[in-house]
Amino acid sequence: MSCSQSSHIVQSTCAYCGVGCGIDITIKNGKASGLEGTMEHPANFGQLCVKGSNLLATTDLTNRLLEPQINNQTVDWSTATSHVAEKFAQIIKEHGPDAVAFYVSGQILTEDYYLANKLMKGYIGSANIDTNSRLCMSSAVAAYKRSFGEDVVPCSYDDLDSTELLLITGSNAAWTHPVLYQRIERAKKRNPAMKIVVIDPRKTATCQIADYFLPIKPGTDAAFFNGLLNYLSANNGLNNDYIEQHTQGFEAALLAAKKWSLAEVSAYCDLDQQTLACVYQLFADTEKVLSFYSMGINQSNSGTDKCQSIINCHLATGKIAKDGCGPFSITGQPNAMGGREVGGLSNQLAAHMDIENPEHRSTVQRFWQSPTIADKAGYKAIDLFDAMDEGKIKAVWIMATNPMVSLPDGKKVARALNKCEFVVVSDCAENNDTLDFADVKLPATPWLEKNGTVTNSERRISRQTNAIAPNGQAKHDWKIIAEVATAMGFSGFDYSHASEVFREFAQLSGFENNGTRVFDISAFSTITPRQYDRLKPVQWPVNNTYPEGKKRVFEDGQFSTASGKALFFPISPRQPRQKTSEKFPFRLNSGRLRDQWHTMSRTGKASQLTAHTDKCYLYINPVDAARLKIVDDEIVNISSDTGQASVHAKLDKNQRPDECFMPIHWNKQFASSANVSNLYASIADPLSGQPELKHGAIALSKTAFQQFGQLHISEDFIVQTQITNEFWTKARTSYGMSFQFANTQPETDILHWCQTSSQISGEWRQFSQGDTQYVVCLQAGRLAFLCYSSATNLSIENAWLKHVFSQKILLEQDIQSLLSGTYSDEFAQGKQICSCFNVGEKDIISAIKAGSSSVEQLGEHLKCGTNCGSCKPELSVLLDEYGINSTEIINTTFIAELA
Ligand code: SF4
Repeated sequence: MSCSQSSHIVQSTCAYCGVGCGIDITIKNGKASGLEGTMEHPANFGQLCVKGSNLLATTDLTNRLLEPQINNQTVDWSTATSHVAEKFAQIIKEHGPDAVAFYVSGQILTEDYYLANKLMKGYIGSANIDTNSRLCMSSAVAAYKRSFGEDVVPCSYDDLDSTELLLITGSNAAWTHPVLYQRIERAKKRNPAMKIVVIDPRKTATCQIADYFLPIKPGTDAAFFNGLLNYLSANNGLNNDYIEQHTQGFEAALLAAKKWSLAEVSAYCDLDQQTLACVYQLFADTEKVLSFYSMGINQSNSGTDKCQSIINCHLATGKIAKDGCGPFSITGQPNAMGGREVGGLSNQLAAHMDIENPEHRSTVQRFWQSPTIADKAGYKAIDLFDAMDEGKIKAVWIMATNPMVSLPDGKKVARALNKCEFVVVSDCAENNDTLDFADVKLPATPWLEKNGTVTNSERRISRQTNAIAPNGQAKHDWKIIAEVATAMGFSGFDYSHASEVFREFAQLSGFENNGTRVFDISAFSTITPRQYDRLKPVQWPVNNTYPEGKKRVFEDGQFSTASGKALFFPISPRQPRQKTSEKFPFRLNSGRLRDQWHTMSRTGKASQLTAHTDKCYLYINPVDAARLKIVDDEIVNISSDTGQASVHAKLDKNQRPDECFMPIHWNKQFASSANVSNLYASIADPLSGQPELKHGAIALSKTAFQQFGQLHISEDFIVQTQITNEFWTKARTSYGMSFQFANTQPETDILHWCQTSSQISGEWRQFSQGDTQYVVCLQAGRLAFLCYSSATNLSIENAWLKHVFSQKILLEQDIQSLLSGTYSDEFAQGKQICSCFNVGEKDIISAIKAGSSSVEQLGEHLKCGTNCGSCKPELSVLLDEYGINSTEIINTTFIAELA
């Protein structure tokens, strides 16, 4: 068979964010050889962002867990499965079912999630199963459930195309959901009358499409929306018919909002009153209004109320459940929504049934024919690790998540895991900060090998398909769970294919439903493996009435509450609980970067994705930095009540004064001390349990480092090179790996230190100039190792490093350049902006200065922004700064003040 005959396309879904982009993977001779966006997938219509485009660069076998291990010793599956089953059974026997717990993830598939829930709630008999989705959108869930009677997102991505006013709040969509952001951008181009308001404490890349930018004081969003409700009431903006016919509780909600006059909101939220009035009036005047919100709203001690305050405004105006309208919560993870469907949160049952409802418990138990059913809610994420710390949870099974990095107060999480008698971790990675605590490590299949379904932010179920066979001994999560359940002596876990699990779940969704629950996918109750493999993306409900799915729900004004009416709730805005003080004067915000994902166990492998930002920064307002005498790129020490970190400073005029931002991604695998979660206290919303991860209180200080340096290592020597300096950070590069380090006690014999750290035998050369030292090592004429160290921070152009490491025989003149730290201007490209075509900041600025006046023109000249488009907002920022750009954002007050 020829190569072309052996190639075929497998359709799957992206492994990262909640947009849920369809991907066509080309398989050639059993290997994935390329990918592109699926043209006909309604979530992305062929588009992928930079993370999705580079998925294949993350699928190699480095750092893959390929065999089961007990106490770090490789064992076979049968030994591992029996051991896990016996230990769980023993602890349950001795201490009861609530002494064990599962902590799962929005990264696993619906089939995995469903079985984990089934085992814990129906067979073990506890509800101690929670998920990292608790950290992402549980406040949105709690508010939907409280208001609509069911956790149902009433919107679709199509609404982004047709809306006339889009409020983006608590979301840097340009970086976190880039494909949706570009869809919004296209909608605005098609309809220039469409207005976009961005409400965010930071002026992020998303502001590039904003007509109005409201740099809101962190934590005050509920007051903003209470003020809106009050304004609508006072200015004839209510839909009294809708309120009357389809809702309850409006008077109490309005009464609570009454005190929030324009002046009050302006003072409380730190917003310009005139702009506020303008935006409120726009909401009142515009027929189609969509609120798009994400973790900036959810990750708060009052996240549920903030979501509710948004919902209240949509209910009060009837701008809900119709074209271009509604409160649209966007999920962070690829299958956070799937987890919500199967009851992945500890206070839910499967298929949108309630654990507190005896009829629902009976329905689920009878359907499963299970020996028991959990009758009370289990521990939510933070409480679960607290219970472990208190010795109540004695065995935990962590699946596809890294709580040591993502949960607040890492010291407490570490203490809890240390105390826990038995820790099982299923993961595709061999090393991460949580696996260090595992008694048993179970190799799970990653994206590309996994098989099942995911549901995106608009309720659309898509297949994530096993494009290649599992590597090593890796197994699908659902299979591992089923085998452990069977080994524990439970029947009801006899599945041979993911489609059988999905079929059972579909049957449960329709079982005794009778129209009482919107979540109903019973049209798949008889799905065959072949049909499952051909499943086309579809939005639930999918049942007899809607066999092709349904774009919008609640159109008839009938909600899932007992009365059929949506419920208002009165909102009293609450301040964040982590308060700044004299000791900790800066507010800490955190979030995602454009090219990284979660704890970097996948995206950290791809040099294409580290080129944009290769180390963790603390973004700080230049005025604050000047006061503390912190300069750009200096390493700063960050401390809070719970932890400490040391990262480089990035002076950023888009930060409000006294507020800092730090990305969530870095951890012990990539830096000595750059885990932002450690800086947050364990505080959560009392209803949703979602941690307050946007409102830390920190202090900043200068560090006492005396020596700074960089190591660059070629591909062949990555594994053997280890450094343990007081400060270090590392990043994958196109030639291998780069490290940056700093010492308070300088290494005096830097050559010896380089040789010991790298273990490379080759031709070592060294040159010193003042306090700067240059070391290179050549192997067979090729550059293997390079180190610069100095009393000040050094920076080296990436293009130069790429050039010298790519030479088969490095010329003497290049060696001399390396040993003197000089290189030609042609390699000076500055920060990489476009990861697809490696276009640097300097070329872009030159092109702007030479006359390119739009993103499109930059694309024509340099190709930047013409593939995935993820860099387009940054191109706009550069156009704003160095040229003439058409985007005018109203109310950048604090930025103007700083200028
Ligand atoms: Fe993946 Fe990017 Fe699409 Fe999100 S927007 S699903 S990360 S390709």
